[in-house]
Amino acid sequence: MLSAEGRCLCGDIKVTAENINPKFTVCHCDSCRQWGGSALFALQCGTQVKFENVNPTNSSNNIKIHPSSEWASRGFCGNCGSHLFYMLNETGEYNIPVGIFQGLDGLEMDMQYFSDQRPNYYCFSNTTKEMTKADIMAYFAQKS
Ligand SMILES: [Zn+2]
Ligand SMILES: [Zn+2]
Repeated sequence: MLSAEGRCLCGDIKVTAENINPKFTVCHCDSCRQWGGSALFALQCGTQVKFENVNPTNSSNNIKIHPSSEWASRGFCGNCGSHLFYMLNETGEYNIPVGIFQGLDGLEMDMQYFSDQRPNYYCFSNTTKEMTKADIMAYFAQKS
């Protein structure tokens, strides 16, 4: 597990994560691609994550949260729009876009989610695990 500090594009929001899994995930689902314009590369960071507004001239909490589904929320910087997290409501676990953290070593593309929603205009040559929507639904049904 890794720990790292990151910033949004404008620098107002500082992110500190203590428990980052270096094996990151890629999500091809329709929502992720609509949100960010393409697949979401995200690091599973668990619950040991802290977000701080470090802009001294703007004391309000600058993080905007969009409830994107019944089970998850998506957060972004209200000033520059950088995507900060996808959070599972039930567990409070954060998935944070890889690009928020600079200079992380040892990252490895491990899993592609919603492989059946991956459009046919791109593909990755990395060898990874894959789960379709049906696989993911079956996995969570069995977990709960
Ligand atoms: Zn920002
Ligand atoms: Zn997705």
